[in-house]
Amino acid sequence: MNIHEYQAKQLFRDFAIPVPQGAVATTADQAQQITQQLPGSAWVVKAQIHAGARGKAGGVKVAHSAQEAADFASSMLGSQMVTHQTDAHGLPVNSVWVEEASAIKNEFYLSLLVDRDSERLIFIASAAGGMDIEAVAAETPEKIIHVSVHPAAGLQAYQCRQVGAILGLGKEQQGQLQKIMTGMYELFLAKDCSQIEINPLIETEDGKLVALDAKMNFDDNAVPAHADIAAMRDASQEDTKEAEAKQFDLNYITLDGNIGCMVNGAGLAMATMDMVKLKGGAPANFLDVGGGTNKDKVKAAFKLILSDGTTKAVLVNIFGGIVKCDVIAAGILAAVEEMHLTIPVVVRLEGTNVELGLSMLAQSGLGLHTAEDLNSAAEMVVKLAEGVGGSLPPTALPPSMEVGA
Ligand code: ADP
Ligand code: MG
Repeated sequence: MNIHEYQAKQLFRDFAIPVPQGAVATTADQAQQITQQLPGSAWVVKAQIHAGARGKAGGVKVAHSAQEAADFASSMLGSQMVTHQTDAHGLPVNSVWVEEASAIKNEFYLSLLVDRDSERLIFIASAAGGMDIEAVAAETPEKIIHVSVHPAAGLQAYQCRQVGAILGLGKEQQGQLQKIMTGMYELFLAKDCSQIEINPLIETEDGKLVALDAKMNFDDNAVPAHADIAAMRDASQEDTKEAEAKQFDLNYITLDGNIGCMVNGAGLAMATMDMVKLKGGAPANFLDVGGGTNKDKVKAAFKLILSDGTTKAVLVNIFGGIVKCDVIAAGILAAVEEMHLTIPVVVRLEGTNVELGLSMLAQSGLGLHTAEDLNSAAEMVVKLAEGVGGSLPPTALPPSMEVGA
């Protein structure tokens, strides 16, 4: 789960990580009033969305008067902001964060995340801050330091000095950095984060280190254990389909192809997507309906797959181990009938009660296509999605599979 910059900055403050003074506004009037309560004569108005790269997209603006701050706020609020980290629709700006402008001497990059290879938390730091860290890593990897923290020993002072050295910090700033890194480490553990990113961490003209931006992600499985973090969820920033999927306990991820995939088991879902790609198609989603699925889940899954109208064909690939194939078939039939489905559906069933499941599909008269294996199912669905398979007759049931045969 992600949170907004203003929420992350509140958590930073709680863990003694210095941030600029500021407040959140949902109207232009509020933005104007906030400037009057903040020190200085310039303020930064920042669109609050769950994505970075706002600066380049007009989502970070320096105002030199209260009126200007109100104008920036009013142009951002209610808009849909597209940055190179969002999709083409962008994300809605429902609030702005207004903070004092800092006099920047240096911009650095500092983050803390889980390194799955070493099974440890690692700090990543670079003197090339304010930039896309992936680009720095690709072009000038020597400018990045990785510091891995031993879970039993915890963060050590020498490790903070290693980071300070690559940032080129003086003695005074070195002490500040150690406090910031300690705060990040404690915050990370206390709230079950998966990432804390400060880009940029700045050194001000008067020698202070300040977190100018704040990005935090949390482990979804741990969020229910932290009521304060759970309350920070902003559903308006999340993919609506992915949020809906969570309600039905479905693992769903939106992709940009046009072949809807409904599969049980994450591994089989990945293999199915690979197969669709191999046959020249593009999956519209990843969907794992889980092991113990039922009719309602199958219906909900179909609704999700079809909800955005770009899906041209659906591939159902179910291995009935825990769940029986006839239960799946009943779910498919209910969904197809109820939703008056007009796009082609290819079904590959295997496992317990497969004969019964397939015969239910064949006898339904709903024109479903069935395939005997994943290879032919993928081939068929790609053709149907391209519209060249429109003349493919729905597969007839082999006589040996007729019920009672
Ligand atoms: P994003 O990463 O989404 O583009 P940031 O918060 O990192 O947004 O802001 C982009 C840039 O704007 C920063 O790298 C910094 O140069 C400038 N900036 C952001 N906040 C302030 C501030 N309070 N004072 C001065 N400059 C700022
Ligand atoms: Mg940033």
